[in-house]
Amino acid sequence: MSPPERRLRERIERDGPIPVADYMAEANAHYYATRDPLGRGGDFITAPEISQMFGELIGLWLADLWQRAGAPADVVYVELGPGRGTLAADVLRAMKAAGLMPPVHFVETSPTLRQAQAERVPGAQWHDDLGELPDDRPLLVVANEFFDALPIRQFAADGRELRVTAGDGGFARDGEVETETSPASIDVMRALAARLARQGGAALVIDYGYDRPGRGDTLQAVSDHAYADPWTEPGSRDLTAHVDFHALAGAARNAGARVAGPTGQGEWLDAMGIAVRAAALARSAPDRTEEIEAARRRLTAPEQMGRLFRAMAILAPGWPDPAGFAP
Ligand code: SAH
Repeated sequence: MSPPERRLRERIERDGPIPVADYMAEANAHYYATRDPLGRGGDFITAPEISQMFGELIGLWLADLWQRAGAPADVVYVELGPGRGTLAADVLRAMKAAGLMPPVHFVETSPTLRQAQAERVPGAQWHDDLGELPDDRPLLVVANEFFDALPIRQFAADGRELRVTAGDGGFARDGEVETETSPASIDVMRALAARLARQGGAALVIDYGYDRPGRGDTLQAVSDHAYADPWTEPGSRDLTAHVDFHALAGAARNAGARVAGPTGQGEWLDAMGIAVRAAALARSAPDRTEEIEAARRRLTAPEQMGRLFRAMAILAPGWPDPAGFAP
């Protein structure tokens, strides 16, 4: 039996059934701490692992905002859950071309992924949570597929919180899901937005999720690029839930920040000029033209990542309107 499975079973035996959020937190802490889940050899692929264009356009977006905000000299780049560091490397390269070379701060709990990040982004500083970030200067923040990994609570139609029980083969949930919330995500967003409001800066959050509060169960497990059972082998597969952008936007506004979007990842990348970037890349590497075009389609097509993935910006009150979002 794996360590997280043993810990969960012991706790349930001692205290009785536990909230879904506690199960998810225990499973994911072990999952991310013990492996690099990204890429072909892992469990899932993220946008920056599909193409450098994704991070480059985010870098241009940040550099443009920064310039129009008066190019404050003391900004820092912050990424939440930076994975392998691929996204940061692409963002930083594009920002550098635009004259912006900020110090880098990563919020990352996994020792394994911190190591991967250090190889791609030398000189970065790491933090376990947002509370440790610099508190006296503007922040340029990116979070791609970060919020979906944070724990959710699930509730039955009568408002009762659903709990997880232990059985012979695995675990089970004690009822039908009607609604779900992610207090952990709300806490992170509230802290982030309060900092932007106080310190200046902007954040771009991209993830799969919904713009309007929905119903039902979005908890899912992914292993080896396929859906898996969330209730067996906790800690060996990635547990995620769809992100409630409506709730995140509300938390950001309540904390004093402005919000733009959410909009589809595809619409945002199109507006940021991904077609032009793809054409430029293909000109400099003609033998890769098909691969570049396939990556562009995968990131933007509505039936692929273009619609389910949403992009949302959070801005300090005095910062300019961001590119790529309808006013
Ligand atoms: N942004 C990357 C990786 C997404 S995977 C990409 O787009 O490729 C999720 C990332 O969030 C991993 O780096 C994981 O270790 C990190 N993570 C998950 N839960 C976390 C938490 N509670 N605190 C900080 N980082 C967390």
